[in-house]
Amino acid sequence: MPNIVIVGAQWGDEGKGKVVDLLTRKVQVVARYNGGHNAGHTVIVGDKKFIVHVIPSGILHPGILCVIGNGMVVNPSAFEKEKDELEALGVEVGESLVISDRVHLILPHHYALEALSEDARGANAIGTTLRGTGPAYEDKAGRRGLTMGDLLRPDALGDKLTEARRHYETICRGSGREPEVDWDQVVAELRAFGERHGSKIKDGSLVLSQQIAQGYSILFEGAQATLLDLDHGTYPFVTSSSATAGGVAVGTGVPPSRIDGVVGVAKAYCTRVGTGPFPSEADEAGVEILRGRGNEYGATTGRPRRCGWFDAVAARYATRVNGFDSLAITKLDVLDELDEIPVCTEYRYEGQTLGEFPADLAVLGACEPVYEGLAGWKSSTSGARDWADLPEAARRYIERLSELARVQVGLVSTGPDREQTIIRAGSALASWFA
Ligand code: GDP
Repeated sequence: MPNIVIVGAQWGDEGKGKVVDLLTRKVQVVARYNGGHNAGHTVIVGDKKFIVHVIPSGILHPGILCVIGNGMVVNPSAFEKEKDELEALGVEVGESLVISDRVHLILPHHYALEALSEDARGANAIGTTLRGTGPAYEDKAGRRGLTMGDLLRPDALGDKLTEARRHYETICRGSGREPEVDWDQVVAELRAFGERHGSKIKDGSLVLSQQIAQGYSILFEGAQATLLDLDHGTYPFVTSSSATAGGVAVGTGVPPSRIDGVVGVAKAYCTRVGTGPFPSEADEAGVEILRGRGNEYGATTGRPRRCGWFDAVAARYATRVNGFDSLAITKLDVLDELDEIPVCTEYRYEGQTLGEFPADLAVLGACEPVYEGLAGWKSSTSGARDWADLPEAARRYIERLSELARVQVGLVSTGPDREQTIIRAGSALASWFA
């Protein structure tokens, strides 16, 4: 079986959790490669709802090895809370979970730094989740971060924190605030975490290479999404990690030559959380329908998501930078009641037509969407499991998205449950997961 990446094609919340959960049946290992507990994947199994933040959603399947890859940042107490919550719901989080020793830690000063930074930006605030993720990546890039591996050498912890502490205190003083972090307590908590979870902290790249050598398959679970990627997203309104498929090799230590395919996940429409341009954002009436039927509220923060129509310019871009082999279209059922569905095929900018996604946010912000109106199907697709069960207009809608995004559609999701899914015969996705 091949090693496959699942990556968000839009601004996140596309339903990656459901797709990963479904496809986990066919693999032995699930590895996350980016982000922290700023991400949230909702997975519905029967009448139970699970929300995972840093633990790969493969954990819901007994016997699957889950790896928190080195490209992630983890807050020890948030990790323990999530583990406890999963265990309370009957999920075993024991030896089947490996945390890479190169994972960087999110510590209390990162929360304080993020709040300071968002405050200082005022109207230009990024709209982050205030989970300390960005500052933890900044400490990593600034060569003053702490890693999970450091918890295995507890006596050196105090010294290891020196540079991070100096940096934090300098920023506090510069902004006229008193540093509030109790570093002795931080060290004590980290030591206790190391004692409790040290056996899970391993060389993640080595573990994954051993799994591959044994003939096991890995599903790489992306968090956030293409347009939030630090390099390829709508910078600066992005996350601080490499969410695109290229991030897999860096964020797990599995080389590109061992990655066999990439699945993009996109909603049949589009949403975005936080600030920044969103050319295909719907008008009030459209938002009301999409948010209401799609239940578009963040899994991590509960914030209402901004809603709009499928943006094929962004989708083409996502196909290009990730090299999608197959696209998974989710939440088709949300569009069931519409007479006509607008799809953004191109942008208009200063009288010109733009078919490719611009890097310059000033340009993106000034782009007007060019819409094509596709016929709605005005009937329920909810729970459809066969391509042939979809109304013809729904099939035409999916085919048009595929044509515009320049990638085959291998999966259509018609409801939150695992079973409410169509896997299209003949697609790359079907060949991997049949
Ligand atoms: P992720 O971060 O990409 O995994 O996405 P989220 O978990 O934040 O949001 C996706 C939401 O949509 C979850 O509540 C899912 O249960 C739900 N969902 C996923 N697929 C479908 C679908 O096909 N139809 C409907 N109605 N809901 C879906």
